Amino acid sequence: MLLHTATSSNKQLQEATESNFRLQMSSKIRIEKTCMFCGEKFTAKTTVTKYCSHKCASRAYKVRAKEDKIQKATEQETENEILFNPIVNKKEFLSIKEACMLLGASRWTIYRMIEKGQLPAAKIGRRTIIQKVDIENLFNKAL
Ligand SMILES: [Zn+2]
Repeated sequence: MLLHTATSSNKQLQEATESNFRLQMSSKIRIEKTCMFCGEKFTAKTTVTKYCSHKCASRAYKVRAKEDKIQKATEQETENEILFNPIVNKKEFLSIKEACMLLGASRWTIYRMIEKGQLPAAKIGRRTIIQKVDIENLFNKAL
């Protein structure tokens, strides 16, 4: 009888300690946060959690993926703009990039042509500039 009492009170003490420990542990890692997708308040378990739920996280991911796509399309559009831009087409001096676009050649090809002396180029600071007339002359030589 005495032994039983001691055991049960020990058990109670142990349970109390465990629940206290759990409480301490969980209170340490509970952070009030605002979901970056839906704006709802939620309790985060880690400091890096950004979203209230898996749903919000995957939705946010989809939005990001879409934005990346738009970004890439915008960059492509910028290249097209340079390529078909009448101002660029009227420019007398071209950057390597513009020369590549105009000729549909790679940067490497352009540099090799410059190195071989097939295409005159000038250095302006760190930039290499090609005179458009020299590109046109390439075709004149061929004739
Ligand atoms: Zn959310």
